[in-house]
Amino acid sequence: MFILKDKTQLERAIAKAKKLRPRVEFDRFGRYRVSGSKGYYTVICRKDERGYKTVECTCKGAEKGLVCYHSAAALSLHIGLARQQQTA
Ligand SMILES: [Zn+2]
Repeated sequence: MFILKDKTQLERAIAKAKKLRPRVEFDRFGRYRVSGSKGYYTVICRKDERGYKTVECTCKGAEKGLVCYHSAAALSLHIGLARQQQTA
């Protein structure tokens, strides 16, 4: 799990996601399934009780607090959906 503070921390993960192009499946708002090297990982994007945006992924890298490309891929979808909700 990591806390999303600014976009620069995602840059490398986004570059990797663009290269590997994982499949992102919508489960429900804030919950996505992303394809990885060993099947699908679940990514959960939400705001915690302190108002921090947190991202969780079930892969090994995210367990260690790394920003993985699954998270980056899911976040790009999540941010787009969040924007739509705000303007709706
Ligand atoms: Zn991951």
